[in-house]
Amino acid sequence: RRMRNLVKMSDLSKEEVYSLIQRALELKAGASPIQRPDLIAANLFFENSTRTKHSFEVAQMKLGLQVLNFEASTSSLNKGETLYDTCKTLEAIGCNMLVIRHSQEAYYQELEGLTIPIVSGGDGSGEHPSQCLLDLMTLYEHFGLIEGLEVVIAGDIKNSRVARSNYHMLTRLGAKVQFVGPQIFADPTLGQMVDFDQVIGQVDACMLLRVQFERHQEAVALSRADYHAHYGLTPARYQALKPQAIVMHPAPVNRDMEIASELVEAPQSRIFTQMTNGRFMRQAILEKLIADNAL
Ligand code: ASP
Repeated sequence: RRMRNLVKMSDLSKEEVYSLIQRALELKAGASPIQRPDLIAANLFFENSTRTKHSFEVAQMKLGLQVLNFEASTSSLNKGETLYDTCKTLEAIGCNMLVIRHSQEAYYQELEGLTIPIVSGGDGSGEHPSQCLLDLMTLYEHFGLIEGLEVVIAGDIKNSRVARSNYHMLTRLGAKVQFVGPQIFADPTLGQMVDFDQVIGQVDACMLLRVQFERHQEAVALSRADYHAHYGLTPARYQALKPQAIVMHPAPVNRDMEIASELVEAPQSRIFTQMTNGRFMRQAILEKLIADNAL
């Protein structure tokens, strides 16, 4: 099986997920990444990004790739050029792979005419495959397995591409996923909301999500304090966690909303570990993309 693009988690088999995790852990332990200074990677981020964009860039540098950062605001998109024509142009001038983040769900469907591969850095509320893989790596690194883990995902489930990718892949790998959050953030296609205090003491991982204010049609009137009290990781909920359980958040974090500020770097938090792991996972993804596409 060959990974032509990585735009959604269903592009990967379970075996491929585990082999990406193994490779990312090897790279983290000091293995040398492949070196391909002959290849050019272009990064096109049409939505804001700190971690995904820069960790892809660091991963590309570590593989010796040449890096082209596309500037949407000064490009011919402002003259009405389509996303397809923009990407086809980068292909025509010699880019070998594209990393794209775009606010439109499934934007990659209009890019099927490209011959160079795409890695998605997130499509609107759709999916976020590299985040999902780094989350799985972080779970695997701590527990040595994924099957049988109990995970609670708390926050804006409906608008979160992180929730969607993680729900689908965690379930496929045999983990149990439950959701916490206000009713307005429920996605009934994934599952119902449960009470945070009922599950906090049982879970292996507590995954917190940011409220995606930029994706809400109507202004959502949420009091930070109320949200924190009902759906946030408070010091009392942190105390209720099993000693082996871990706390995760894809970031950016709204401090004192989804998580008490003092807990961001608490001993059971893996929030910054997730970022470190993300760089190694993105190296592993790019290595696989290069190998599978015979670049
Ligand atoms: N950084 C993640 C994403 O781009 C999560 C978030 O923005 O809340 O989806």
